[in-house]
Amino acid sequence: MTKQKVSFFWFRRDLRLEDNTGLFHALQANFPVISLFIFDDDILDNLPKNDARVSFIYNSLQKINTELNTFESSILIKKGKTKNVWKSLLEEFDIQNVFFNKDYEPFTIKRDTAICSLLKENNIECFSFKDHVIFEEKEITKADGLPYTVYTPYKNKWLEKYHLAGSAPEYDSAPFQSNFAKNQFPFPELAAIGFEKSPIKVQSHNLTQIANYKETRDFPALDSTSYLSPHLRFGTVSIRKLVNWANRKNQTFLSELIWREFFIQILFSFPNCVNHNFKSAYDGIQWRNNEEDFKRWCSGTTGYAIVDAGMRQLNETGYMHNRVRMVAASFLCKHLLINWQWGEAYFAEKLLDFELASNVGNWQWAAGTGCDAAPYFRVFNPEIQQKKFDEKGEYIRKWIPEFDFGYNEPMIDHTFARDRAIATYKAGIIK
Ligand code: FAD
Repeated sequence: MTKQKVSFFWFRRDLRLEDNTGLFHALQANFPVISLFIFDDDILDNLPKNDARVSFIYNSLQKINTELNTFESSILIKKGKTKNVWKSLLEEFDIQNVFFNKDYEPFTIKRDTAICSLLKENNIECFSFKDHVIFEEKEITKADGLPYTVYTPYKNKWLEKYHLAGSAPEYDSAPFQSNFAKNQFPFPELAAIGFEKSPIKVQSHNLTQIANYKETRDFPALDSTSYLSPHLRFGTVSIRKLVNWANRKNQTFLSELIWREFFIQILFSFPNCVNHNFKSAYDGIQWRNNEEDFKRWCSGTTGYAIVDAGMRQLNETGYMHNRVRMVAASFLCKHLLINWQWGEAYFAEKLLDFELASNVGNWQWAAGTGCDAAPYFRVFNPEIQQKKFDEKGEYIRKWIPEFDFGYNEPMIDHTFARDRAIATYKAGIIK
């Protein structure tokens, strides 16, 4: 029997049907479109069985599948090493072309290049699209064509280009939905993928609570940020819709979305920053890297309530408020003199919104080793941060119920730690 000629749309970190660039184009390519998601063993093998991100992806795929069912279609879920999965798909289907949205992380760029070569060897056309950002790769550069490494001029150029365009285009696939291939692929149980349901849930996002974002965003007890980060990470919301909304409603919020793109373009242009100080002048810092100290930081038992509350929030929910992330990260690098890469790895394991570009960028910012980073001699005083941003201790009490019953002594004196950090950094900086 001859096989039906089909197009494939490969879902990755764009888990929605609405305003999805690659999908929009796939549906207009003259062949019925099969929707695909691959649980990639190279990623899954390193995760705990109840990883909350896997549960979130699984639930998002279920939602997509239900929507596809209304067009008599369904999503094809595969698990394995990506290249092997594609090899078996080439046997199973008569694939004419493959569509997907671009990802800018070094590991993914390598993987996608290998898959596109495999497809091309089999005379299959491969089309990739910008979807995850408003401006990608080399779209925002300095006059000399080099990437920006300082946020403010990057943001100004970004805004200039955005306003010139008027808005970000939105892609409505509704008129083409009859072009999904008619099929009924079985939707696997989570256990068949080798995982179990996580007790941790992704908080639903909410744009009404950011009405006073500029004034309230730094106060962790106020619940006044959007909780959009995991949704942006996995593409369950469209960045274009969000940016167009933010441009109309809230410029401070828009600036935060631009920070996200700033770090994505930094990672794209300087992929080495994943494992190296962005500024090599800091390579000589003699980190103490004391394992006992690290454990106390991880478990939220440093005796500094704001740091401990943040770490407990992270351990229990997979989320930590941005202000507290900054304080906790600074404490690890400066007070304890532990290499930012240890903290980055711990956050990567725990954060529901873990995104390589933002995590590495912000960690290097906190450590003072990054592009446009906090100067090394600026050492947050955790007690002052607490007084400023959680004056009544509401956030702290939420995560440290024993706070009022005689809380732990700080594991290190602030003045001693600050002086030690400044001296260590000063001695380590390579001139
Ligand atoms: P909102 O305040 O509602 O912000 C809206 C969106 O803007 C966020 O969802 C995010 O996409 C973007 N954004 C806001 N602040 C930043 C920022 N500083 N850098 C880049 N983008 C930003 N964010 C991640 O998405 N993934 C990470 O792995 C991550 N690691 C971090 C590590 C450290 C040490 C620090 C200090 C910050 C990190 N952030 C990370 C940035 C920020 O803390 C989170 O994006 C934010 O707390 C998410 O909550 P929200 O969606 O309610 O934020």
